[in-house]
Amino acid sequence: MSAPSPNDLELPKATRDKLAKLGIHSRFDLILHLPLRYEDETHLYPITDAPLGHPVLVEGEVIHNEVTYRPRRQLVCQVQDGSGVLHVRFLNFYPSQVKQFALGNRVRLLGEIRHGFFGDEMIHPKTRVVKDGSPLNEALTPVYPTTASLNQPALRKLIAQALGEAYLADTLPVALLHELQLPEFDRSVRLLHNPTPEIPQIQLIERSHPAWRRLKFDELLAQQLSMRLAYRARRERSAPVLDVAGRLLERLLGSLPFGLTGAQARVMDEIRRDLALPHPMQRLLQGDVGSGKTIVAALAALLAIEAGHQSALMAPTEILAEQHYLKLSAWLAPLGVRVSWLSGSLKKAEKASALADVASGEAQLAIGTHALFQDQVEFARLGLAIVDEQHRFGVHQRLALRSKGGSPHQLMMSATPIPRTLSMSYYADLDVSVIDELPPGRTPIVTKLISDARRDEIVERVRAKCLEGRQAYWVCPLIEESEVLQLQTALDTHAYLTEALPELAVGLVHGRMKADEKAAVMAAFKDNHVQLLVATTVIEVGVDVPNASLMVIEHAERMGLSQLHQLRGRVGRGAAESTCILLYSTPVSDTAKARLRVIFENTDGFEIARQDLALRGPGEFLGSRQSGAPMLRFADLERDLDLLEAAQDAAERLLNQQPDAAHAHLQRWLGGREQLLKV
Ligand code: ADP
Ligand code: MG
Repeated sequence: MSAPSPNDLELPKATRDKLAKLGIHSRFDLILHLPLRYEDETHLYPITDAPLGHPVLVEGEVIHNEVTYRPRRQLVCQVQDGSGVLHVRFLNFYPSQVKQFALGNRVRLLGEIRHGFFGDEMIHPKTRVVKDGSPLNEALTPVYPTTASLNQPALRKLIAQALGEAYLADTLPVALLHELQLPEFDRSVRLLHNPTPEIPQIQLIERSHPAWRRLKFDELLAQQLSMRLAYRARRERSAPVLDVAGRLLERLLGSLPFGLTGAQARVMDEIRRDLALPHPMQRLLQGDVGSGKTIVAALAALLAIEAGHQSALMAPTEILAEQHYLKLSAWLAPLGVRVSWLSGSLKKAEKASALADVASGEAQLAIGTHALFQDQVEFARLGLAIVDEQHRFGVHQRLALRSKGGSPHQLMMSATPIPRTLSMSYYADLDVSVIDELPPGRTPIVTKLISDARRDEIVERVRAKCLEGRQAYWVCPLIEESEVLQLQTALDTHAYLTEALPELAVGLVHGRMKADEKAAVMAAFKDNHVQLLVATTVIEVGVDVPNASLMVIEHAERMGLSQLHQLRGRVGRGAAESTCILLYSTPVSDTAKARLRVIFENTDGFEIARQDLALRGPGEFLGSRQSGAPMLRFADLERDLDLLEAAQDAAERLLNQQPDAAHAHLQRWLGGREQLLKV
């Protein structure tokens, strides 16, 4: 076997279809289909001396069998060896099993022994009738993940066959294996499929055995190599050089009521250096909620504009796009910059004229929702595309922005911090800038966990705060199963709060409203004509009303951590002390409890993200990015951090010093799939 190709399974179609259900498409996939656990049929235990707590193999003679009917129908047998008697019970059984337990038969039983009421007992053991002295297995028996249509013995046979035919020469240089103290690939996979009994099973199950480490390293190395290659490929493409004196940028900075924080200034330098290079920037700007990413986006856009190119700013929701439009117009219009608003709700003629402005190059900055840009917009000379709240899209979703000339530079902004292990792995093809400092003068948010039963008290609190001149959000629960139900809840909550708080203006915003209706409500809230805003999770991202200092989130137990963190970030934007009240209703599941504890105990987005990753695993955490990058199957980023670091280091060295080995390795591990990773 040189390269795994999707078609190298020379098996009947029916079998291939069954394997495909398990994600197995090639011989190499079969080889990497590793056991979940093992059964030990290499050793016989005396019945009375066998260890408890895990399956053991015992052998003896059937001395009793009967089918009883009380308390229910069951097959009850006794098997005796030199040490004692074992009770065996089957609650469901076939006639063939009754036959196996014919008196005088010699049976080998694999199962867990328990001390039952009548003595040592095994329930539903795996049974085989044997002759005295039948040989035992030499290796542990693998138990593979499988589906109902393909039984264990059949799958075992297919895998054994693949192992027999495969040529598994090492792709890695001996020196590297030596340095990392890893065994050869061939030896490692064979060992994992058929380990000998002296290998402690715990090392196999917990995946700490060197053979496991070798597989994890290989997998991580393949990921690192493909990320490095994608990174290099990007450096080969051309992009406009946006190298300017920065006059517009200086003017905007001069007009702001605040100066940049040290962290904002630093990331601006990083962005500015990238934009001056002749290949497309692909930079992820991470900064916790409220860290001030919008101004960075505006400044970056000005660099492109001063260089005579256009910029685009995309947001995931209409509300946020509109807010950006208002804010950036206020900042940039005084500098003579033409900002164009591309909303889904524009009238036909307005939209056509906005699109024409962008296509002619007259519009220097275009702001709108992501969806709109993807579908309809053609730029004259797009220099920089900025995506806000990138975590809503997935980084690897290709930006299908159409522009004449080279690829635009890209700045992706995200408030969902990426834990270090993920930025070293799934995001390794991007450059990352971090705003790790909040603007001065913020008072920390106080978070409270309160039972739903105390809702009346909360309503009083809202009244008091708003009468003091503050504003509040009331976030309605997420109802994933039904948008209609979610809408109804929002309407009900709005009606209830309007009645309970007659002295306040209570607004409502939800996803089903027309864009201009939403905009009107948001504007009223911003201007403090509305004191209490009832909202669905549409306000999750970006909304910035510094006078709002109280947030109530209903059914917080249903929401994810990053969502809660984002929502909570809507308050605490001004100098006043802010409170976030998480209402929960019992019963709360254990995972929901764990989430609520994390959000209650932490305000730092990085720490929350790290714990979120630990609770959910990378597959869910990465969300939409998943489609772009093959998931790691063997390695666990937290536990295998040392291997991840080693793989990162080895990838760079291999690509520089032994590119043939690097390519052979990629070919083996990703086969035809590495193009998925190309950005
Ligand atoms: P986010 O990173 O969540 O997008 P925003 O860009 O909305 O944050 O900024 C949050 C608030 O902080 C805004 O009101 C913004 O004007 C303000 N802000 C941004 N940078 C600074 C700064 N350096 N000093 C003071 N306030 C700032
Ligand atoms: Mg923002």
